[in-house]
Amino acid sequence: MFRIGCHISAAGGYLAMGERVAAIGANTFAFFTRNPRGGGAKALDEADVAAFLEFAAAHDLDRLVAHAPYTLNPCGEKPQVQNFARTAFQEDLRRMEHTPGQYYNFHPGSHVGQGVAVGLQKIIDVLNETLFPDMRTTVLLETMAGKGSEVGGRFEELRAILDGAALADKLGVCFDTCHVWDAGYDIENDLDGVLTEFDRVVGLERLKAVHLNNSKNDRGSRKDRHACITEGVLPLEAIGRIIRHPTLRDLPFILETPNDEAGYAREIALLRELRGA
Ligand code: FE
Ligand code: FE
Ligand code: ZN
Repeated sequence: MFRIGCHISAAGGYLAMGERVAAIGANTFAFFTRNPRGGGAKALDEADVAAFLEFAAAHDLDRLVAHAPYTLNPCGEKPQVQNFARTAFQEDLRRMEHTPGQYYNFHPGSHVGQGVAVGLQKIIDVLNETLFPDMRTTVLLETMAGKGSEVGGRFEELRAILDGAALADKLGVCFDTCHVWDAGYDIENDLDGVLTEFDRVVGLERLKAVHLNNSKNDRGSRKDRHACITEGVLPLEAIGRIIRHPTLRDLPFILETPNDEAGYAREIALLRELRGA
């Protein structure tokens, strides 16, 4: 089954999100667990969650890929930056237990000059302090573009985080097509080779979701500027190969393209056509 959706605003709560994505032809979605730029999360409305779960079951909405805020940096240099990451993880993971069996995706972070090794260890520390044995959410490390001092632009860095995590079975990877391309992996001409490399370094069993984005920039640019599906440097044929690839086709695909909901509806319709199912 083609599991396709997009990142939408969390305004209005869970049921409102479910209704909006169902209306645009999506059967999965992503949302920020809290204000992407700021700190706090709204209190959970249990009645809203219950209504959402009923709606999701009836409309086959599944494998949500919740997104931690961009400001969260588990490998920040200042203690308060790492403390925010720890607190946000703890709160978000507790909250996600109300919608069990979904994904919680985060950007590994930026080491801001401390060096990759220190960054990796800090990320591992935050994970080891916040994941808990009976959790039902899978936490996803996102493949990054390698912009600035971002950690996670190389598959090897994701591998190192997985190796250091005590509860590694609670972890997976989200493959962001814009980021991977910007980081230098040739998903246009050698998707098989990139996935073989991912398997060798990380292991394909870790791959749980795809952020499906085109890129405004050339391969290896390390810029991280998402483009709409038909407007980036990756040709539509390459996007088609991604969504039909036997290794990827059963994963949830989440659009994070610069779109409003009407634009997402058009992209989802186009991708369904491209997928041929
Ligand atoms: Fe992301
Ligand atoms: Fe992404
Ligand atoms: Zn990005």
